Amino acid sequence: MLLPLIGVGAAALTSVAGYHTMGPTSQLYGRNFTGLARGTRQLALTYDDGPNDPYTGHLLDVLAKHDVRATFFLIGRYVAQRPEIVRRHVEFGNAIGNHTWDHPNLIFSTPHSLRSELGRTSQAIADACGLRPKLFRPPFGGRRPGVLQAARAMDMTPIMWNVTCYDWKPTTSAAVEQNAQRQIRGGDVILMHDGGHKGFGADRSHSVTATDHLIRKYKDEGYTFVTVPEMLTSVGVKTL
Ligand SMILES: [Zn+2]
Repeated sequence: MLLPLIGVGAAALTSVAGYHTMGPTSQLYGRNFTGLARGTRQLALTYDDGPNDPYTGHLLDVLAKHDVRATFFLIGRYVAQRPEIVRRHVEFGNAIGNHTWDHPNLIFSTPHSLRSELGRTSQAIADACGLRPKLFRPPFGGRRPGVLQAARAMDMTPIMWNVTCYDWKPTTSAAVEQNAQRQIRGGDVILMHDGGHKGFGADRSHSVTATDHLIRKYKDEGYTFVTVPEMLTSVGVKTL
């Protein structure tokens, strides 16, 4: 009887560790920002895995139409290929963050490759727009204490999210909007994607349309859309 019991215990422990390394709102492996207090009338739209032609441009058009700024976590190797899109973000007033060079799961990275992933990306962003990113989001949400320490050592605040829109696979804008609406409580950091980590050109038309509809709906309900640095300022963390 002992062996099966040990087996159950080990499985439970593994699943707890798995949640804390990948679960977006877990704070066990170091503090990271996941949004403001529930009920706050602010929302932050965030987009990962760009820049990505042509969807990042479409998204910028939608944001401009609504006069809303958002936060983009950029993949370094795409930044090097499309620096003009990064400049467009900065000129428009969007916030930008580091999302690594190659999008690996950093739980498995050596300290050397971790520093390289972060350092090359920050340099590519600085080369593109003259600003070093102050925000960092780990690919797949994968992190351990060393990952967050490395980001902080490079003067970046780790940013997670608390609303997951499941828009990284083929889906519809209606499904993305439903996922968002089911989880939004106010004060939320909303995760969407303008690109795909496997290559340029990932279809994100559903995310673009969902963004248009969500902004209209929540503005009508009295919410304000802010960037992650604006949210951080309201809790006393300076990244602007
Ligand atoms: Zn990503």
